[in-house]
Amino acid sequence: MPLPYEHAAIEQRWQARWAAERLHEVDLTAVAAAGASGSSARKLYNLVEFPYPSAEGLHIGHALTYAGADVWGRMQRRRGHVVLQPMGFDSFGINAENYALKVGVHPGELMARTTANYRRQLTALGCGWSWDTEISTCDPGYYRWTQWVFLRLFEAGLAYQAEAPVLWCPSCQTVLAREQVEGADPSGVRAAEARGTTAGLGSCERCSTPVIERILRQWFLRTTAYVERLLAGLDDLDWPAKAKNRQRAWIGRRDGVDGRVTYRLRDWLISRQRYWGPPIPIVHCESCGAVAVPDDELPVLLPKSKDVGVLRPTRAGRSPLARFGDWVRTSCPRCGGEGRRDTDVSDTFLDSAWYFLRYPSVDVPDRPWDTERTARWLPVDQCAGGPEHVTRHHLYARFVCLALHDRGLIPFAEPFPRLRLHGMLTMGGAKMSKSRGNVINPDKLLAEHGADVTRLGLLFTRPWDADGDFDPAVMVGVERFLARVWRLTTAPPGDGGAGLDLGRTVDSVIRSIEQMQFNTAIAALMGLVGQLLSQDQPPGREVRRVLVSLLAPFAPHVSEQLWHDHVGEPGSVHTAPWPPRR
Ligand SMILES: [Zn+2]
Ligand SMILES: [Zn+2]
Repeated sequence: MPLPYEHAAIEQRWQARWAAERLHEVDLTAVAAAGASGSSARKLYNLVEFPYPSAEGLHIGHALTYAGADVWGRMQRRRGHVVLQPMGFDSFGINAENYALKVGVHPGELMARTTANYRRQLTALGCGWSWDTEISTCDPGYYRWTQWVFLRLFEAGLAYQAEAPVLWCPSCQTVLAREQVEGADPSGVRAAEARGTTAGLGSCERCSTPVIERILRQWFLRTTAYVERLLAGLDDLDWPAKAKNRQRAWIGRRDGVDGRVTYRLRDWLISRQRYWGPPIPIVHCESCGAVAVPDDELPVLLPKSKDVGVLRPTRAGRSPLARFGDWVRTSCPRCGGEGRRDTDVSDTFLDSAWYFLRYPSVDVPDRPWDTERTARWLPVDQCAGGPEHVTRHHLYARFVCLALHDRGLIPFAEPFPRLRLHGMLTMGGAKMSKSRGNVINPDKLLAEHGADVTRLGLLFTRPWDADGDFDPAVMVGVERFLARVWRLTTAPPGDGGAGLDLGRTVDSVIRSIEQMQFNTAIAALMGLVGQLLSQDQPPGREVRRVLVSLLAPFAPHVSEQLWHDHVGEPGSVHTAPWPPRR
């Protein structure tokens, strides 16, 4: 059953209107700081993990995550919160760099292109992003502060250099963190630590090349100094039990018989002998050793080259930055003598270990985050993201926040008090991948069905947090549902549905959205529509109002159209108060 309306025209109309009216932008000073009294509105920081903008464009799994988080945010806004729902781009890192070098463009140029494509897709999905606060980690205005964070850890003795046996990918020509190696079972990991063997070390997660071992001087962050607090802090977090257990297992505390406690967690190896990352802001001096670049000299900008070949990794295991002699030679900030810049760049996971601190302060030029804004907006109220991040991103962000908190730089210790993890969307029982040819392109779904049907289809197909197949047939059912809603609400009003207990549906939708169980919320709406269809007369105004109102977070465009043109309400449905509970 095709839709009885032109979805493309409706989506264009309302997306243009929302942008013009700045519907999803937030006055960052309109909410009170935590603990402050007064009548200021309640803040809600709806964080979703930002994407790495790959050349292929947005993955359907992103669309599922973002649609779910957006539904939650939209309901919370209408229940009285000021919702900050930022979006940004994790745009440094080896994936972008490898692809750029392969196709012979500068990674910065590639990122500008892929980021523009992501922005287009993220908007087309109809999510209420607060684009005013957009960040991109490869922007010097951002990585200046990544370097600043590194220096605070360095000052605290939490960043150090050491000769270490490291896992090396001969193809990517870079050091890999243990977390970036696949197929290294526990005995393989032990083999890596017992130097000199290569068997069982695993293979590079990016290119599948078996990794080897090399001895190199590397930068580490002292995550092991926080190991007990990282474990203890987990107890009080509102995280899925599965996620807590995975992080606990990763930290791997073992109590030996003689009372000696050991951990699986090692210090975080953060230096990369690559080009596309923030240069480590350290100057090496013969007399003073490793000296921090003064804060007022940040950012240490990446040297530029029109010749992309110069950016390639070196076989010697030195960073391509070492090729820029004029850039490397500098004076020592402490003694003024000859100095050499550190030529490594930091791991992309350091960029994402603090990005949520920057969003509310993105327009503040001279500090990484504004104290007052941070007190108003942080910690985040919900972080929605991927289960694959529990042992890396979520752990690193917790470590960095603990360390910053100890230094008195942020007023809280835990960045993600409430974490929700989406399920893995598969096709034919397998992870979607180009090589399997089972990738569903969100652009295709959006063009064929429109954003409203795509959102509903993704969220209805299965519980948001469960792994499983995407069933394209669900799109047909969802279109039939929207067609029915359209007919019910555009017919001349009658008094159908007058005796229905609408409050019950409202309660059920609220409960389901709060639990991120969007499929059951949609089922409740489908149930209501079924009841209305069985009535002798079309529904009256109040019933339409509630139906469109509850549908709006899921299908924001067609709901806005119905609200405006047929329910006859002034203003946007997305700012209208949420219907009352039973
Ligand atoms: Zn590799
Ligand atoms: Zn010196």
